[in-house]
Amino acid sequence: MNKATKNLCPRCGKARIEVKKWREKIGESWVTYTNTVCPDKACQKIVEEKIATHTAERQAIEKKRAEAKQARQSINLRRTIHRPRMDMELSLVH
Ligand SMILES: [Zn+2]
Repeated sequence: MNKATKNLCPRCGKARIEVKKWREKIGESWVTYTNTVCPDKACQKIVEEKIATHTAERQAIEKKRAEAKQARQSINLRRTIHRPRMDMELSLVH
């Protein structure tokens, strides 16, 4: 019926209001972005807080992953440093 029904608030189900529409060129094609808000200000605030929490959680997970990767890399680095010394010890035993 009307195109607003496509953008329903995930929280209260009300039709969301378009506040901003812009186009961006991604590679060779133009992509239209639409920023919508819930007509209920209190609801919109909660939705935004949820998004912020999700973003923070995702960033925390990504940070942990990066730290784990870094830790793995430093272990590998330590291994390569230790290897020559082990070889030396082995040659001493022989
Ligand atoms: Zn809402």
